[in-house]
Amino acid sequence: AQERYASIRDTDAVSACGERVHLVMNAGLMADLPSLASSGAEGVGLFRTELQFLVRNQMPKRSELSALYSKVLDSAGGKKVVFRTLDIGSDKVLSYMKPTDEPNPALGWRAIRVGLDKPGVMRMQLQALVRAANGRPLTVMFPFVAQYDEYRAARAEMDKALERERILGHPLPETLEVGAMLETPSLAFAPRRFFEEVQFLSIGGNDLKQFFFAADRENERVRRRYDTLNVSFLSFVQNIVDRCAETGTPLSFCGEDAGRPVEAMCLAAMGLRTLSMRPASIGPVKSLLLRTDLGALRGVIEQAREDGLQSVREPVMEFLRSQG
Ligand code: PEP
Ligand code: MG
Repeated sequence: AQERYASIRDTDAVSACGERVHLVMNAGLMADLPSLASSGAEGVGLFRTELQFLVRNQMPKRSELSALYSKVLDSAGGKKVVFRTLDIGSDKVLSYMKPTDEPNPALGWRAIRVGLDKPGVMRMQLQALVRAANGRPLTVMFPFVAQYDEYRAARAEMDKALERERILGHPLPETLEVGAMLETPSLAFAPRRFFEEVQFLSIGGNDLKQFFFAADRENERVRRRYDTLNVSFLSFVQNIVDRCAETGTPLSFCGEDAGRPVEAMCLAAMGLRTLSMRPASIGPVKSLLLRTDLGALRGVIEQAREDGLQSVREPVMEFLRSQG
């Protein structure tokens, strides 16, 4: 399938009306990295570090992690990689950690909540990342941040890792960007100061949608019940885009919807400028983007909302078909 899009692999992702959108990819294992070149992705917008923990049967050592992250940066060859710290709990359970028996794991002790309450593993991981960067640029993102103080506490852990590295006499990252995933509705309403302080945000659409509609992403009965192009959800995302624009906070979207061409066009039309998706989606999304007038699509979305539709999908599909 990637061959079909080979001819546009090195073409910049620019809409028919001239808007530049950055298409980056999701990854989690070394084996994913060759897709950077074959898909034409501009970088890794989400590196799910928990996959490395999930495929093993014991806790990796810091030196192993740092060797792995260093190899990831090597094979990215200067393209940006956004490392997301461990996102375990809920659907992702490590066999070598004490199991927690929770009534609602998706709403439970997971991701950054574990990282902050039991900081040993997160500290080790941050140290490994700083060591792996070895003077190169480093980008780190914390999952499942629900309120401002969680970001601040995680950021403080990052600063501690830097200080430790400095004392040990190792080179510090050339540049460091520390961001958060916006996966809970609460974070969209955080104080303006949070938006000013965080260096970037990435919408985790899979979780955000699950919590927005209160529909379990793992439950076959309800997971497809609500449309991503539902006007309520789009308004919510638009509000996030607008708040980030006010404070100049870089924003991306990294849920599965970023890789669905129709959804991706709507996100781009709403102002998202970076979409992170599985590598196989880069070609199809770029192909549609090159043909799409995002300005006109914005008008179609606004009109559908004014018309009182529940979802903008039908008029959007009609518009996309009409442009050939
Ligand atoms: C998300 O929630 O949209 C996301 C990208 O993270 P994950 O799917 O790993 O929870
Ligand atoms: Mg998530």
